[in-house]
Amino acid sequence: MKTLVVLSGAGISAESGINTFRDSGGLWENHRIEDVATPEAWRRNQDLVLNFYNERRKQALSVKPNAAHYALVELEKYYNVQIITQNVDNLHEIAGSKNVIHLHGELFKSESTKNPELVYDIPSWELNKGDLCELGSQLRPHIVWFGEAVPMMDIAIEITERADIFVVIGTSLAVYPAAGLVHYVNADKPIYIIDPAKPDITFRKNMTFIQDKASTGMEKLKQELAFSF
Ligand code: NAD
Repeated sequence: MKTLVVLSGAGISAESGINTFRDSGGLWENHRIEDVATPEAWRRNQDLVLNFYNERRKQALSVKPNAAHYALVELEKYYNVQIITQNVDNLHEIAGSKNVIHLHGELFKSESTKNPELVYDIPSWELNKGDLCELGSQLRPHIVWFGEAVPMMDIAIEITERADIFVVIGTSLAVYPAAGLVHYVNADKPIYIIDPAKPDITFRKNMTFIQDKASTGMEKLKQELAFSF
């Protein structure tokens, strides 16, 4: 079976009702990134940051995967599908995708501020001041904030290097190091990009741009791939 690797971004969840931030003028649900998604923001105002992610969890609990998420599950019949997502929502998993890694963390997990390897499930939407890890330190959202290292990057590179087909869906390719993954795709292997807007990428041979929303773009991709199972 060929390996089909997907790099997904906020755009794949847009049709589920979760806003991307590039499309909202660089704001994330009306917040500046610097106020809610950086280590400095956490040091400055833990209440604001905790509340922001509590709201994101409430929102995530109220939405469902869309046709694009389900199309990727269907492709598992024909390919070894590996999803590398920049999203912190869990819509790929809810849809049923088996192999998902989250480059930028997961909304429904918390981590110790003393030892980031201590990671816990958040069963509902709330993470509050006074919620402590087993070492007694405050729990923070298990999110890779801007300016922090991306621990899953090495494994993402390994997966990308093994791709027979690489698909980019709904990402502006503006956030590094994630955006750099496309450069690890073997030059002989095809890259497909699904996005209504042209992402910031230099075109190379074997690159196909499907200018469309994730749901209808995935339908077009399935047609393109029909002969390469
Ligand atoms: P981005 O906001 O920078 O870019 C979104 C991309 O999606 C754009 O290229 C846009 O043209 C495209 N898009 C918009 N509507 C689409 C649709 N219906 N179908 C397909 N594509 C569509 O997002 P990014 O590149 O993922 O980077 C943003 C960062 O923000 C990520 O690190 C992510 O963790 C975080 N974020 C996550 C979520 C989420 O988990 N759902 C939501 C917002 C932001």
